[in-house]
Amino acid sequence: MSAKSDGRHRPDWGWAAPGRVNLMGEHTDYNDGWVLPFAINKRTVAAVRVRDDDRLRMWSQQSDDPEAPVETRVSTEPGDVSGWASYVAGVIWALRVAGHELPGLDLWVDSDVPLGAGLSSSAALECAVAVAIDDVLGLGLGTDRIAALARTAENDYAGAPTGVMDQMAAMHGRAGQALLLDTRTMVVQHQPCDLAAAGLVLLVVDTHAAHSLADGGGYAAVRRQCERATELLGAGALRDVGLEDLDRLPGLAGDGEVLRRRARHIVTDNARVHQAVAQLRARAWEDLGRAFSASHASLRDDFEVSCAELDVAVDSAVSAGALGARMTGGGFGGSAIALVRSADADAVAEACRAAFGAADWPEPTVFSVEPGPGAGRL
Ligand code: ADP
Ligand code: MG
Repeated sequence: MSAKSDGRHRPDWGWAAPGRVNLMGEHTDYNDGWVLPFAINKRTVAAVRVRDDDRLRMWSQQSDDPEAPVETRVSTEPGDVSGWASYVAGVIWALRVAGHELPGLDLWVDSDVPLGAGLSSSAALECAVAVAIDDVLGLGLGTDRIAALARTAENDYAGAPTGVMDQMAAMHGRAGQALLLDTRTMVVQHQPCDLAAAGLVLLVVDTHAAHSLADGGGYAAVRRQCERATELLGAGALRDVGLEDLDRLPGLAGDGEVLRRRARHIVTDNARVHQAVAQLRARAWEDLGRAFSASHASLRDDFEVSCAELDVAVDSAVSAGALGARMTGGGFGGSAIALVRSADADAVAEACRAAFGAADWPEPTVFSVEPGPGAGRL
């Protein structure tokens, strides 16, 4: 392979990793709890070429200038590059910190996962790059190790303090299945999720409302509140706490009432994950829809990570016949998901667009997603 890689001799795309939606369990992943995402049929593809020097060059079709690489050394440290390339350089850094010697690399990415829409384009990017490098260099890392390294890249290099759900969903996805992840034990149990066979679709309503976890202070703030609630209750994690424990919080701190609501969301959403698994297995779709809506109310009122656009998307979807709807992902913008009978999908999409029009907001993008395969070689 030539080191004279000028970006024009791009090899064929070789690897891919998907985005995800989360059906239930929001903000539970950094509280040792459970989540129920599925990998979607939208993905980031990556190509890699080994260089014979120590340079790291990165191209993205989604960057402002797809022809211009971001360049640094392969022994990169946090702070060397910022913006989109920090998610890629972060993977290289995390691999090196974990003891892997890496040659210089050229990396290209392209994606049909919308960026910053709450569908986890960041983990798709990290995991696509990581599986490409793992395969080309024969590192033999395995899915869970790659997910952990990708998370390290996102947390400690790109600077977004997220949990591990997104990377695990990208790595473990399977067509026709959702995955129940216990974020304490990291055990994954695949669950049946053949919506099409049930005459249903899962609609994504991308609100286009501002959302970037790397510079969004809101995510870090609720995360700290969860840590304080855990500490005040003397618990190992909010996963271990019961509803009855929460009433102690108002007496324990000046902002104890706020902490009580934050913790209540985590406790009730963890419970809803287990209900949702049972509902998927029983094909109890109407119950699942109601659970979606209950989860959204909890995220809106107790956890306060929703926003006007997400609330309008959820309310208009349900009014137009969705079985239920909720925001998905970290919140503060991004996307809502709605569980809809196929025959009602157009009406639900139209209702969302009309409500946004009436509020004078940019038109949301509405599309359906289905459970697709996890990261791997194409
Ligand atoms: P989400 O993961 O929900 O899409 P994040 O804020 O976590 O939202 O990550 C979005 C950021 O990830 C983008 O702003 C961009 O910096 C980076 N990113 C993701 N995919 C790509 C891509 N294909 N090309 C360039 N940057 C990307
Ligand atoms: Mg992300």
